[in-house]
Amino acid sequence: MSTDPASQLPFYHGSISRRDAERELMLADSADGLFLLRQCQRSLGGYVLSLTYQGVFNHYPVERLPNGTYGIPGSMPHCGPAELCEFLSREPDGLPCALRRPCLRAPEQPPRKGLFDTLRENLLREYVKQTWSLEDAEDIEQAVISHAPQLEKLMATTAHEKMAWYHGKISRQEGERLLNTGSKTDGKFLVRDSEAGTFALSMLYGKTVYHYRINQDKSGKYSIPEGDRFDTVWQMVQYLKMKPAGLMTNLSEECANSAMAAKSPALPAGRKERLNGYTPPPRATSFLKPSLPAPLAGSQLLPMDCSGFVNAYHNPKDLKKFFINRDQLVMDEVELGSGNFGCVKKGVLKTTENNENGQIDVAIKVLKNENESLVKDEMMREAEIMHQLSNAYIVRMLGLCQAESLMLVMEMASAGPLNKFLQSNKSSVSVEGIVRLMHQVSMGMRYLEEKKFVHRDLAARNVLLVNQNFAKISDFGLSKALGADDRYYKARTTGKWPLKWYAPECISFHKFSSKSDVWSFGVTMWEAFSYGGKPYRKMVGTQVVDYIKEGNRLERPSQCPEQMYQLMMDCWTYNHEDRPDFQQAEGSMRTYYYSICNQPQPGDEAGAAQPIK
Ligand code: ADP
Ligand code: MG
Repeated sequence: MSTDPASQLPFYHGSISRRDAERELMLADSADGLFLLRQCQRSLGGYVLSLTYQGVFNHYPVERLPNGTYGIPGSMPHCGPAELCEFLSREPDGLPCALRRPCLRAPEQPPRKGLFDTLRENLLREYVKQTWSLEDAEDIEQAVISHAPQLEKLMATTAHEKMAWYHGKISRQEGERLLNTGSKTDGKFLVRDSEAGTFALSMLYGKTVYHYRINQDKSGKYSIPEGDRFDTVWQMVQYLKMKPAGLMTNLSEECANSAMAAKSPALPAGRKERLNGYTPPPRATSFLKPSLPAPLAGSQLLPMDCSGFVNAYHNPKDLKKFFINRDQLVMDEVELGSGNFGCVKKGVLKTTENNENGQIDVAIKVLKNENESLVKDEMMREAEIMHQLSNAYIVRMLGLCQAESLMLVMEMASAGPLNKFLQSNKSSVSVEGIVRLMHQVSMGMRYLEEKKFVHRDLAARNVLLVNQNFAKISDFGLSKALGADDRYYKARTTGKWPLKWYAPECISFHKFSSKSDVWSFGVTMWEAFSYGGKPYRKMVGTQVVDYIKEGNRLERPSQCPEQMYQLMMDCWTYNHEDRPDFQQAEGSMRTYYYSICNQPQPGDEAGAAQPIK
């Protein structure tokens, strides 16, 4: 998992030391203009550009500026590390020469992970776990993957609040008392709020307590006087544990805040305030401030803020619980949708489990024609499939109810089908928002692929929204579980098939696999990026089959980013063996999604950050 916008650059070596960088350059012949990019160990998102000129190795810090752009101090900023290097290959812009030849990483070798990468990943997990009280490893993973860029920003500004070494508002004297209690290890330390509005580091050394003021500069970076600058306090502490960097010694033992240890997992202050609809005044701001998500209005809730993220109605696997008693269900007159089978109604499920007020909003699929056993069987099969699935990005079934008719009770996705939502909310959903939703769909589909289910009806009409930022795959009416050794499901007869969404092998050979779902995913992406447009509008299904055979494909919707169209085209690879699977498609979606999250947002003015007074 990488949110690093440089991770795709072949000359990016990740977290390698200065000495290793010089060795790489030397091995690659040291000609003038030979260069590589590596990770800066001091800043979240900073780099170092190493360049050879006349046999000398030069190293230039590339900083991530408060507005999200990147630049070598004193020269022009660019929107990303790739753009910066491209520019510097055309113009030296203050360097001794232009970048001429990239010093490449060994093929197949990913950029080396740094301390911060691992730390950041672990911290992200811990942060998600505590902030949203998630317990299930799978849920945590889903949350981290689907919102890593946003979470990193949220976390970086508040992470120190959760650290044992952070004591908040205590006096200098209290700090001294705490450090002098118990063990007297050199380097024992704590961080507290300083009177000046920033932080102070107090450290024990040779029985004396030393206090260092942590300064914050104009761009929000932290440093102890004359020392290196860091984006966050916790990064600084982490670094100072390894190197003294101007202190008497390395930081060693954490002087733990007992109040902190006893604290139950809770939302960090920042988020709690936002959730209550109150917008905190701009935090005395770090580099992260400009790119922090705007105050979270209803439409900006993360999926983890919604009840549908985890299974709200813990449904033990035994079949008795699979059935819901009629008296637990309250059915509304409101119809959410209808089809041949009957209709889907709004309702409430009364439960005593988990859910705080004991009520869960539900959607209830009600069979119209009970007597037709065929229809009933179909619904039972749909329920059986859904019962085996549990993923944040898939509509969960809560149970079946047999009463006046057979009813399938599902969690509610109240913003409705994706295609309709986009048709009526064109102006309020950005392309980035669509990328986020489609990435979630790819995560749900990846889960299905891993569990060996084929959906067979993936389309924008069957992607339901909890809200503008949270999508779930639904409608498992045609879905099949594959046998352990099967690569595809073979349909014996055709039916009312959504031909425009089907891959060639489905139509020609009745073969359905995750790869054919990938084809449908491409069409679903097309629908999404055309804001709910109808694919192959002027054709009927059977014409589409020939149209595809002749090598034609849907055109790029006008708002669709080039990279996303490329992925659609890959999904429409004729031969299923050459088509990407969902593991790959999700990877591509994720890379693109992270890359656009890292770009500066409109209105992020350089210099907007204010130092604390
Ligand atoms: P069909 O097999 O007829 O396509 P669907 O399962 O797609 O049946 O449901 C039909 C419609 O009912 C959907 O398009 C949607 O409007 C509504 N619906 C279904 N499930 C839900 C749900 N969980 N939450 C909200 N609306 C739903
Ligand atoms: Mg449907």
